[in-house]
Amino acid sequence: MALRSGVVCGEDYAELVNTCKDGGYALAAVNCVGTGSINAVMEAAAKNNSDVIIQFSNGGTQFYAGAGMQDTFKAKVLGAVSAAQHVHLLAEHYGICVVLHTDHANRKLVPWVDALVDHSEEYYKEHSKALYSSHMLDLSEENIDDNLNECARMLERMSKLEMSLEIELGITGGEEDGVGHDIEEGADSSHLYTQPEDVLKAYDLLSPIGHFSVAASFGNVHGVYKPGNVQLRPEILKSSQELVRKTHGTNAKPLNLVFHGGSGSEKDKIAAAISYGVFKMNIDTDTQFAFSNGVGKYVEEHNQAFFHQINPADGIPQKKFYDPRKWLRAGEVSFMKRLDEAFDDLGSAGRSLAK
Ligand SMILES: [Zn+2]
Repeated sequence: MALRSGVVCGEDYAELVNTCKDGGYALAAVNCVGTGSINAVMEAAAKNNSDVIIQFSNGGTQFYAGAGMQDTFKAKVLGAVSAAQHVHLLAEHYGICVVLHTDHANRKLVPWVDALVDHSEEYYKEHSKALYSSHMLDLSEENIDDNLNECARMLERMSKLEMSLEIELGITGGEEDGVGHDIEEGADSSHLYTQPEDVLKAYDLLSPIGHFSVAASFGNVHGVYKPGNVQLRPEILKSSQELVRKTHGTNAKPLNLVFHGGSGSEKDKIAAAISYGVFKMNIDTDTQFAFSNGVGKYVEEHNQAFFHQINPADGIPQKKFYDPRKWLRAGEVSFMKRLDEAFDDLGSAGRSLAK
């Protein structure tokens, strides 16, 4: 089944998710902060003939609008709208399918998501497509009923616009842009693992309303930590699929599962998670490092150019080295190299559905 290249929403998005699960591969969801990282994600995806998910944290959208904008709530809303418009305009020209998504929103950030859905309502009237393919609500700090009731309210709004909702059950360790939880070494870690009964509850409530996915916790953490602190147990995902399948007589993988904290994860655990129905793996920490590492190497190599317009040693003008396009591009190239690896790990390379 081929899809039109560009931003995918609604039925096309559902088709893409199902194709990933049936085909045993997953899409990389890459956090972006500006046009440089957005374009590099699309370039890397096109080069690998892979579809991809571009996502923004609330802080990422604020930065996109400009770190100096005084009204930070407004910046987060306008930055997210501006970034989405950029992707809608360019994605189809890269010849791949792009999913547009926003990352963790806790209770404090629910008004941000509501404001983005307001913008999608306007956009939908004109384009028959929402601004975003999906948003995430992360109310995992709250009790399960409060979490799910708010998710149901949001999904009611979003499903009218053919949008999908990602929810979080259980707790992903570590922190992502101010949302998250510290890992205590040696502490009881049972809260880091999602209970299949909670997943079933979510399925019962949300599947009649619209399309949704679940960020389930199976010992995954944001960021890269010393090995051994938390044990990844992807078989928890399998138990959740099994429980829903048995209860409702669905196909083998009724749930659309999301793997948060993909950076630094063991390759065999990634493969196991995908086999249990993970269609999306978030990657941020490793790609942040890759971007900065590329810039760092460039600065080291052309050190003089960052302090002198004319090299004091030989009198040669340094403009061609300090032009910001040069070192920004060095960051992008290094970032894209890490994405090559991600597309390979996730099995999405060579499998774009875009025609
Ligand atoms: Zn996350």
